[in-house]
Amino acid sequence: MALIEFAQITKHYPGSATPAVADLNLAIEAGEFITLLGPSGSGKTTTLMMLAGFEQPSSGQIRLDGQPIQSLPPHRRDMGVVFQSYSLFPHMSVAQNVAFPLSVRKVDEATQRTRGAAALDKVRLGHLAERKPQQLSGGQQQRVALARALVFEPRVVLMDEPLSALDKKLREEMQLEIRRLHRELGVTMVFVTHDQGEAMTLSDRVAVFNQGRIEQLAAPRALYDHPANAFVASFIGDNNSVAGRLDADGRLQLAGGHSIAARNAQALNPGDAAQICVRPERLHLAPATDAAGPASDRNLLRATVLDAIHQGDHWRVVTRLDGLDATWFAKLAPRELAAFGRTPETGQAVALGFAPDDAWLFAA
Ligand code: ADP
Repeated sequence: MALIEFAQITKHYPGSATPAVADLNLAIEAGEFITLLGPSGSGKTTTLMMLAGFEQPSSGQIRLDGQPIQSLPPHRRDMGVVFQSYSLFPHMSVAQNVAFPLSVRKVDEATQRTRGAAALDKVRLGHLAERKPQQLSGGQQQRVALARALVFEPRVVLMDEPLSALDKKLREEMQLEIRRLHRELGVTMVFVTHDQGEAMTLSDRVAVFNQGRIEQLAAPRALYDHPANAFVASFIGDNNSVAGRLDADGRLQLAGGHSIAARNAQALNPGDAAQICVRPERLHLAPATDAAGPASDRNLLRATVLDAIHQGDHWRVVTRLDGLDATWFAKLAPRELAAFGRTPETGQAVALGFAPDDAWLFAA
């Protein structure tokens, strides 16, 4: 049995025409790190707050170990919560902040001290126990908030955009720290972010949210390699897309006389409108004359170079597909560009090549 289950959860906020969360089903296994990922307003925080007990669902059931928990107040759900704003008490020391959940739970003072110290050690801040929160950096304050969430050894830790106030370098450090804590403590973690890179770094599984619904729930690698639909393909990683119509041979016909073979064309019917998605690192550059040649085992689209930008470890070649209202870009390693022969110039006619296996078709 899953540790946490959302069963047909819907949440309507008063006065809002559309539900914030609609008919959500989600099972979370004990010990897993699961991330709720999606654009702003897609229902991630509402989902987390219903689990924490700060919001009530309009309908459906949330279960912990098979037992409904909706009637339990937040402090009786055995869940530690970390918010984006650290919400530390300014007048208390770091040690007092961390021990606070224990004092609320009427744990004796000696135990508060030993468990508070242990929690601070877990986040490597034992040496700062007597400071006040404002004497700490943002990253350190967030570690204190994390220690406070861990101090009563909850079965589940919930985190809502805990790193978004930190700069990039610190955020990446904290991601590794959270990974380490998850590995060492074996606690179940439910994490909310709009940052796909963060979700990919941290998670065993990612639930991709859109308009109050889960578009796909899968391991990071599977989301990237096997997106379920165009939304996921665009939200996870970079993506090129263009719309067309499927012909009787299972090829996608595009305006401008382009025609494409794709891997999952059999999922659609002839005549269906469809969108094709190709990752930029799956594109290669070929001479424009190649596109006029006989059909081969790869797709070749005629395009005009808009810009070629050196980005350190790769080149970003931005193009306009001929006869189509679509800008596609290729990410090319320096040696791939060397194979093309020279740096592409603005206005140059080229062909973009890709294998049918690297082209995903989705109903448009
Ligand atoms: P996310 O965390 O993905 O940004 P939220 O769960 O915060 O999304 O919000 C989902 C939807 O519910 C949004 O349309 C938001 O405006 C709305 N919403 C969130 N909180 C409230 C609230 N307290 N009252 C009314 N509407 C809310």
